[in-house]
This record gives sequence, structure tokens and C-alpha cells, in this order.
Amino acid sequence: MARYNIDERQQAIRDQVAEFAKEYIEPVSKDLDHRDNPDRFAFDLYRQLGKVGFIGLNMPPEFGGGGKTNIEYTTLIEELCYHDPAICLLNAVAELATYPIIHFGNDEQKKKYLPKIVTGETIPAFVLTEPAAGSDAANQITTAKLDGDDYVINGEKIFIMHGDVADLFVLFLKIVDPETEAAGKPSKKVSAIIVEARKDGKLIDGIKAETLQKKMGMRAATTGRIWFDNVRVPKENLLGQKGKGFKIAMNTLDSARIGVAAQGLGLAQRALDESIDYAKKRVCFGSPIAKFQATQWKIADMSTQVEAARMLTYKAALMHDQGIRFSLEAAQAKLYCSEVSNFCINHAMQIHGGYGYIGEFSLIEKLYRDQRVIEIYEGTSEVQRLVIAGTLLR
Ligand SMILES: Cc1cc2nc3c(=O)[nH]c(=O)nc-3n(C[C@H](O)[C@H](O)[C@H](O)COP(=O)(O)OP(=O)(O)OC[C@H]3O[C@@H](n4cnc5c(N)ncnc54)[C@H](O)[C@@H]3O)c2cc1C
Repeated sequence: MARYNIDERQQAIRDQVAEFAKEYIEPVSKDLDHRDNPDRFAFDLYRQLGKVGFIGLNMPPEFGGGGKTNIEYTTLIEELCYHDPAICLLNAVAELATYPIIHFGNDEQKKKYLPKIVTGETIPAFVLTEPAAGSDAANQITTAKLDGDDYVINGEKIFIMHGDVADLFVLFLKIVDPETEAAGKPSKKVSAIIVEARKDGKLIDGIKAETLQKKMGMRAATTGRIWFDNVRVPKENLLGQKGKGFKIAMNTLDSARIGVAAQGLGLAQRALDESIDYAKKRVCFGSPIAKFQATQWKIADMSTQVEAARMLTYKAALMHDQGIRFSLEAAQAKLYCSEVSNFCINHAMQIHGGYGYIGEFSLIEKLYRDQRVIEIYEGTSEVQRLVIAGTLLR
């Protein structure tokens, strides 16, 4: 069934992704689902996403990006996720990690880093979460202390997409300010800094990174844990103003949440389409299960929620394009779409019966595993509710 589009440019993206999926995603999707260590990160596919212009789709053209709208970028993510959520995540992480450089970096930083990110040559990571700072993201323990012309960084990060393979970290930490400390005031506020994590492919002195094992889903995109032990970074790598890192992180997450909403939407749409297809073919008690009202109601509820999810997602993306504040709408879209994707994949599993539960028979088992994290990363559902209620009750 044709999808609702705000304008015709979206359909062009949908067609482009469908072609890409046929050539590059479908042949490797199953195999990549089992990859969970860094030497098996989907490097080739990642570079291909850069080559065709998907990684830089909405990035500034002067730095090699495609200059497309957020509506078009949102459509890209919806469609990539429809074809494979984990492969979609390869692309989405690049956007998440690059947004702070585009919006808060100086010209020199943009010129230096963006062109190679856009082509897929440089893999960036958004490095915020720590073992004790997830939802409570301001509770950063990682610190940087100025020593001559360098910041010296110590600390630990966890759950970082591509953190095990990335070349570049957009790292959030607290800068220790000895003068403020001496004056008896709190000396640390969150700041952001760019870390060139690798030289000639090897991690620089003091950085250790590992791939997190036994991840439930989204396996084509790896997730890492990172340690910093007296890592020296030139002070000019500070991103934006000192002490303004929390604002940079939150602004970035506002935008990224529209992308996560689009992930939920794409996955929910796929669960619905697979269910319609299967319900027409599977015969029980002499008739296709599509003839049973129990199945029909599931399909009706799924499709209605998918359409509502689409409206919320594209409303937020449109507001982003129009320069209207969209934190509330992004949180609503992320919350709703992630929960709709859960609802839809759960119903899809039920409609597919045993053939849904066993991965060799259908895609449903993979989608079921891929879906769950959409309700956790970039702010859990509880955090989205806090943002929404906090905005409305302010
Ligand atoms: C696969 C994966 C990829 C990720 N990628 C990245 C990445 O690239 N970069 C990055 O920086 N981070 C990343 N994360 C981290 C992710 O953003 C955090 O896991 C998430 O924000 C939740 O933090 P937490 O896991 O520490 O849970 P916690 O913050 O410990 O929360 C535990 C539970 O308590 C609830 N809770 C916490 N506070 C409140 C409250 N005030 N009110 C109500 N309920 C509350 C939460 O909603 C949750 O249900 C990733 C995580 C995963 C699993």
C-alpha cells in the first residue's frame, strides 16, 4: 500500500532506499545479524551508505553533505529500518554523532571532520553514557583537566554505538576548573570535546575499547565500552563553549529522537506488512487466518497506530525543518513510535505463530529482537514522559 507523503521528494527517497536494499541489504541482512565483534563490524556496508549519500543526506553541502531536509532524512531512516533496523542504525549513529559538530563546531572543526564522515571514511560515535550516567546523563564522572595545551581525560563510557570501532568520538565529560574549585564553588560542568581516537587505524595511547557481547538485537551495528586513562587531546578540540556540553547533548538528542521515531515507524510498518501477507496465506480450519475476526482486529489496530505514528513523526520533522522548537514533539514521536513498534511486532509474532518465533522461517524473530532497544536508547520511554510532562507543566 502506498505510504502517505508530505511531498513528492519523500517518494524519491523511498524508491532509492528500496533499490539500495535490494542490492546491498537483502544479500547480507541475515549474516550481519550474527556479527557481534569489532573485526566483523559491517565496514563495507557502512562505506556503501556513505558512497550513495545516505550518511550525509541532510548534512551541509559545503562539507560534502546532501543538503536535504529533515523530512527527507526521516524518510530515509523509516525506509532503511523497514528493510533492516540494524543496518539502519549504522546510518542513524553517524547522524547522532555528527549533529554536535554541524551545529556547535567551529568552521575549522567542520572542515576538518565533516567531509570524511559524510563519505563513510571516518566513523564517528556519540559518547555520552557512563556506567552511572544513563538517564541521569548530567552525572558524568569522566573528567578533563587542562595541562599545557592539552586536556587530559580520564573515565569510562558504556553502551556506545560504534564505540568499539569509531575513529572519532564526540565525547561528553566534565572539565575540572582549578580556579573555581579553589574559590569553593562546584568546579565541573558538562562539556563536549572531539577526540581523534585512532591513528593509522589503532587506538591512541590511553584509550581502550571493547565490543559488548550477547546483544539482543541490532547486531550489524556494534556497541562498545570505552576507557580513558590520561588521554591527551589538544585544547582546540573543545566543541562549543566550555560548560555548555549538556545543552549540546540535549539538543542533539532532540533531533535524534525524530530519527528513533522513524526507526519505530519503519519497523512497525514492516511488522504490519509481513502480517497481512502471512494472514492471507496461512490456512487454519480450512480458511486463511485473515478470515478470522481475531486476526482482522489485530491488523486494524496495527495499521491505525502505524498511521498515527507516521503523523507524529513527520510533524516533528516538519517543525525541525521550519525552525520551530520541536523538543516536545520529538519526545512524543519517539515515545509513541517506539511503543507502537513493540505493539506491532508483538501482534506480528502472534499472527505468525510458531513460524514467527523461529528465525529460519520468518523475519519476525529478528524484528522482535531488534525492536526492544528503540524503547531504551536516546532516552527511555520514562524519560520521554518526563520531557513531555515537564514541558507541558512548566
Ligand atoms: C544498544 C544500545 C545503544 C546505545 N547507544 C548509545 C550511544 O551511542 N551513545 C550513548 O551515549 N548512549 C547510548 N546508549 C545508552 C542509552 O541511551 C541508555 O542505556 C539509556 O539512556 C538508559 O540509561 P541506563 O541504561 O543507564 O538506564 P537507567 O538510567 O539506569 O534507567 C533504568 C530504568 O530506570 C528508569 N528511570 C531512570 N530515571 C527515572 C526517572 N527519573 N523517572 C522514572 N524512571 C526512571 C529508566 O527509564 C529505566 O527504565 C545505548 C544503549 C543501548 C542499550
